[in-house]
Amino acid sequence: MKALSMKLKITIGYTITLILFVIGVLFVIVEIADDAILINEKEQLVDEVSDAIQDIQKGKKFDYFDDNVYLILYNDKKEYIDGGIPEFFPVDSELYNGKLRKIKTNDDIVYYVYDRSIVVENGETMWLRGVISDMNYGKMGRFILHIAFIILPILIVISTIIAYFITGKALEPVKKIQETAENISQNNRLSLRIGLKGTDEIGKLAKTIDNMLEKLENAFVKEKRFTSDVAHELRTPISIIMAESEYNIKHEDQLSEMKESMKTINKQIGKMSSIVEQLLTLSRADYGNVKLNLKYIDVEKKIFEVIESIQEKANKKGIKIQLNSNLDNKIFKLDELMFERVIHNIIENGIKYGIENGYVKIVLSLDKDRLKIVFEDNGIGISNENIDKIWDRFYVVDKSRSLNRDSTGLGLSMVKLIVEKHQGNVKVSSKLGVGTTFTIFFKNL
Ligand code: ADP
Repeated sequence: MKALSMKLKITIGYTITLILFVIGVLFVIVEIADDAILINEKEQLVDEVSDAIQDIQKGKKFDYFDDNVYLILYNDKKEYIDGGIPEFFPVDSELYNGKLRKIKTNDDIVYYVYDRSIVVENGETMWLRGVISDMNYGKMGRFILHIAFIILPILIVISTIIAYFITGKALEPVKKIQETAENISQNNRLSLRIGLKGTDEIGKLAKTIDNMLEKLENAFVKEKRFTSDVAHELRTPISIIMAESEYNIKHEDQLSEMKESMKTINKQIGKMSSIVEQLLTLSRADYGNVKLNLKYIDVEKKIFEVIESIQEKANKKGIKIQLNSNLDNKIFKLDELMFERVIHNIIENGIKYGIENGYVKIVLSLDKDRLKIVFEDNGIGISNENIDKIWDRFYVVDKSRSLNRDSTGLGLSMVKLIVEKHQGNVKVSSKLGVGTTFTIFFKNL
């Protein structure tokens, strides 16, 4: 069986509720109307009987049927003398003086009776009985019911049609969400958005889905760029190595040229090895496989060692590297190798993107139990539009300039990853042409 559409389900639910509600309201109305009519009729019954008694005592004539009330006369032996008898009324039923009672026949017809005994002129006792039949007082209720039975189905049909259209309209956004999702999955068009404007629940849901799609699309774009960047980054050193080795084969007899060529090969292999190394760290982290090898290390000493290893590069550009420490306790529990990589990377960037005879100043301090390291340089700086992207894999601000600087664009994404693995964080501020400051916080693990 085909599943009912949401639109139909809601409409059916609404219609059933409406029918039940209307039946309930009608029932109450009929009951109240009947009761109100009955109270009226009962008063009428007592009044009519009292009036007739007065007429009898004054010797006047009276009507045996007046205002829906039947009047019946009985003698002192409670035998019927005269009067109007409603249809099927058990005329011989017992008389009780001054009591308003309900009499029900075997056929479920209800009568209200009011009996009075009277002493007439000759001293004889007589009985006067007033009777009303529910067939009369129930007329009004039945009339209302009849009207309701005709009008109600019409009303229900009209409101069901209206409900069907309103529900359809209300569910239109859901249809739009479903169509967009289908379109995305069938045509691989991740750039599609639902684009609903509303602020109701469905509007909010659509916005959340749109945001999610935006993130997914960005992730896919990054993933694609990443793969093509890996290929691109490795292609250059590989083609250099190819060219150099071919050159070597041709000039195998010229030792000095071969030596130069081997140096180039070695440099390019070094670059490839560094790319592969960094990629491995990053991809291990992607799969959650990076385990920290924590040790107590003297961070000041470690940074000095890194500076020493990189001093030659700095000297070539006349860049001064300064280290100032405000630390009392220099021992922190960190992953030594990873810590070294972070420091090396940031200082190396300071040199790579520094100006001739510039500086890289490093300041160590404690910030709420965390190790705070500030690296400040007076290099070329980074523009505002690029500053958020420097953490992306393979992102280099200026490809042509970075090429000469041995850039891979992987360094900072690895720095960020390592710092975050140490439950720390990293910030950057920079001004183009003025300089850059990196601030790194390491948690003492
Ligand atoms: P790489 O240095 O290999 O290009 P990174 O991930 O270390 O890759 O840096 C990304 C980019 O951020 C660099 O290409 C560079 O443009 C910019 N950058 C990093 N550090 C600095 C700095 N100290 N001064 C200016 N630009 C920087």
